[in-house]
Amino acid sequence: MEEQTKIINQTIQDTVIGNKKIRTINPPIHNGSTILFESYTDLMLANKGEYSGLTYGTDRMVAQRAFEEALCDLEKGYICRAFQSGISAISHALLACTKAGDHILICDNVYWPTSNFCNKILTKFGIEISYAPADVGKNIGDYLRDNTVLIFMESPGSNSFEIQDIEPIVETAQDRNIITMMDASWATPLYHKPLELGIDVSIQSVTKYIAGHSDILMGAVTVNNKYGDLFADYYKTCEIYTSPSDCYTSLKGLKTLKVRMTQHEQSALGIAQWLEKHPLVDKVIHPALSSHPQHNRWKKYFRGASGLFGFTLKEEPDSESLARFMDNLQLFGIGYSWGGFKSLITAGKYHRSNGSDYDNKTIIRLNIGLEDCSDLQQDIEKAFYQLN
Ligand SMILES: *Cc1c(COP(=O)(O)O)cnc(C)c1O
Repeated sequence: MEEQTKIINQTIQDTVIGNKKIRTINPPIHNGSTILFESYTDLMLANKGEYSGLTYGTDRMVAQRAFEEALCDLEKGYICRAFQSGISAISHALLACTKAGDHILICDNVYWPTSNFCNKILTKFGIEISYAPADVGKNIGDYLRDNTVLIFMESPGSNSFEIQDIEPIVETAQDRNIITMMDASWATPLYHKPLELGIDVSIQSVTKYIAGHSDILMGAVTVNNKYGDLFADYYKTCEIYTSPSDCYTSLKGLKTLKVRMTQHEQSALGIAQWLEKHPLVDKVIHPALSSHPQHNRWKKYFRGASGLFGFTLKEEPDSESLARFMDNLQLFGIGYSWGGFKSLITAGKYHRSNGSDYDNKTIIRLNIGLEDCSDLQQDIEKAFYQLN
C-alpha cells in the first residue's frame, strides 16, 4: 500500500464503552499521570514489572503510540520514540549512545543548538566533540579518532544547505562500528529515508513539516534494529513524557504531509528558479537546483525537496537596506522555525570550515508556505526595491 494511504488507514486501538467499541478515525487523547489498576493483583504484577498493560502516564499513551507507529513505518525503522521538541530528540539520541571518553564527530552545518548542546553539555561528561566539513564524504576517515563512536550528520544543513555524501560515510562507519545519526527534518521521511541508506538513527524536528502548522513543538527519533532496543531502554529509563495532545496533532499532520509537501516543494522551486534569474540575486542555495554544489547527492539520496532554501545578493546589503527589505515584506513573517503554512524569512551569516561560497555573505532564508506562489513572488519583488 502507498505510504500516505497506509497512514490514513492506520488502525487505532479501540476504546470500549457499554460493551461497544468507540471507533473514531483519530486516536483518543489520554492524559497522564495515573492509570488505575483493576485490582491489587494487577498492581502487584506492575510492581514486579510483569503487567502487560500501561501503568503510568510515562508508558506512552495511545495517541503517542499511534504517532510513533505511523512515523516508524514511514521511516522504515525498528522503533520510534516521541520527544517534547526536536532539540530534545537530538540531545537524548546523543546521550543514549555515548559515555565518558567517547568522541563524537559532527558535521559543521548542523542546527546551532545541536552543536551548542555538544560543546556545552556533553563535554562536561568527558565526551570529546569535533567537527567535519559540511560537505564531507569519502574523506570522512580524516576526521575520525580511535575513540569515535558516533557521526552526526544533517543534510541539507541548517541555513547553508550542504549535503554529506552518505554512502561512503556509512560504509566507513559500519567498518569501524560507529553509530551514524541524521537530522533529517528538512526533507521529512517522505523525501529522505536515512535508515534505508544504512544510517542507524533518523531524527525529526516534528515541529516543522510533520506537525506543519507552527503551533506545537515536538521531535522524534527512529532507530534501526541494531540500536532499537538500546534506545527504547534508554527512553524508558529516562521516563520521558511527550504531551498526548502534541502527539495527536503530529499524527494529524502526518496524514496531510504528502499533499502539503507537494505544494511546498512546487512553490519553493518556482520561487527559487525565479530568484536565480533575478538581477539582484547572486546564488540561490536550493538542493534541487543544478547549481547547488551537492545537487548530485541530493538526486541520489532524496526523493524530493521541501520549501526551505536560501539566497545571497550580488551586492552584500548593509544592515539598513536589509532591514528595509525584510520589514517591507507583507506576506513573509520574520521569525524562526519553518515547515508551517505561513511563509517566513530570516537572514544571517554562517561560517563553515570548508569555506563555502557563502562564507561571510548574508544568507537570506525563505520558508515558503502554502500561500499562492505568485503572491509571494510579487511580495519579494516589491520589497527588493528597498535594497537600492
Ligand atoms: C528546528 C530544528 C531542530 C529543532 O527542532 P525544535 O522542535 O524546534 O526543537 C532540529 N534540527 C533542525 C534542522 C531544525 O531546523
